[in-house]
Amino acid sequence: MIVSPKIRGFICTTAHPEGCAKHVADQIAVVKSRGVVANGPKKVLVIGSSTGYGLSSRIAAAFGSNAATIGVFFERAAEGNRTGTAGWYNSAAFEKEAAAAGLYARSFNGDAFSDAIKTEVIAAIKADLGQVDCVVYSLASPRRTDPKSGQVYNSVLKPIGESYTNKNLNTNTGVVNEVTIEPAAGDDIEQTVAVMGGDDWQFWIDALLEAGVLAQGVQTVAYSYIGPEVTWPIYKNGTIGRAKEDVERVQKVLDAHLAPLGGKAWVSVNKALVTQASSAIPVVPLYISLLYKVMKDQGTHEDCIEQMDRLFRDRMYSGSPQPDEAGRIRVDDWEMAPAVQELVGQRWQEVNTENLAELGDFEGYKSSFLRLFGFGLEGVNYEADTDVTIGVPSLAAAPAAA
Ligand code: NAD
Repeated sequence: MIVSPKIRGFICTTAHPEGCAKHVADQIAVVKSRGVVANGPKKVLVIGSSTGYGLSSRIAAAFGSNAATIGVFFERAAEGNRTGTAGWYNSAAFEKEAAAAGLYARSFNGDAFSDAIKTEVIAAIKADLGQVDCVVYSLASPRRTDPKSGQVYNSVLKPIGESYTNKNLNTNTGVVNEVTIEPAAGDDIEQTVAVMGGDDWQFWIDALLEAGVLAQGVQTVAYSYIGPEVTWPIYKNGTIGRAKEDVERVQKVLDAHLAPLGGKAWVSVNKALVTQASSAIPVVPLYISLLYKVMKDQGTHEDCIEQMDRLFRDRMYSGSPQPDEAGRIRVDDWEMAPAVQELVGQRWQEVNTENLAELGDFEGYKSSFLRLFGFGLEGVNYEADTDVTIGVPSLAAAPAAA
């Protein structure tokens, strides 16, 4: 099939298998070029491992520390004339590269929120690895079914208390306009916390702990975002911010649960980057376009892979994690540097449709977005027929996940 991008709103409904493979290979090359992480993790479980920060975490662990990895994700193979999802092809490519490097890699495709997949993953750890010494929690989902009650929760991206009006970028047209988002109503906050809060992270770690599959000195990390004040009403102080506060609450709970093992739970605050999850947040794409321009000009721009490599290499496994006053790891430090924020803030006031190309990096935003789906990568022949039916090796070898 010849595959080209089909963009609907803030998602692309097609993905290019070879482009995704190149995206994965490029990330592996970044990690390898930085050398081995001394004392890095050796057996790693990544929950949400197929795209964005989770995929990069898996790559950073495998190719920075020669770690065996188990990945959990929710993706779709090709069906009829529909391509598979980017995360499907990323995972296929990751496993192929891991096998070529002699690294263990096994994947589970199913609902990470369910008890069934937790049971399957624990059985796999017992059978193949014995224990894991690092658990990365990197889910981003609009929905969660509570495994105990069966209740379905939906997360929303809304301000709290009052409506929020600010500049916004229509990423399809390049028009800078204004958006007004109505405040959370009813049980929006509770619903969002139930999906994107720390509940499920705790379920995972407690289940792994109870099964005895966490190694002495285990570390676990979940990801958060804070960002600048212009985005606070929709992010930090909005419904998603409440969920992230809950993740921080659970971090402290897990710290206590892991203490007998000499383990540690972390929240890592990461940089704003174009991912499938972040492109759905109003206001954020305009902020990211301005941010990319400033950070690229200053030579401090990083993508998910550089962020995750730095998280492992310079923080979690460096002997010097440099937590902030709230105990969080901050790899958003370069984004939040005053020199960066001052310039972004100034340009935020000035930016409009006409000067966006000059003040921001909308081209960079768009190309990053397309790369998420395997488009626009160097060396890939997009005119050629490509096999969209490729499978994820370990999934083909095992019975389907729940
Ligand atoms: P993403 O959309 O790229 O990745 C989400 C992952 O979760 C994918 O692997 C997907 O398959 C998996 N997933 C979703 N629902 C699932 C389910 N029910 N079962 C199994 N797997 C499921 O998102 P991302 O931007 O990498 O976000 C990951 C984390 O990083 C989130 O906690 C997010 O808040 C945080 N974060 C993101 C940014 C950013 O700018 N993108 C910044 C800081 C922190």
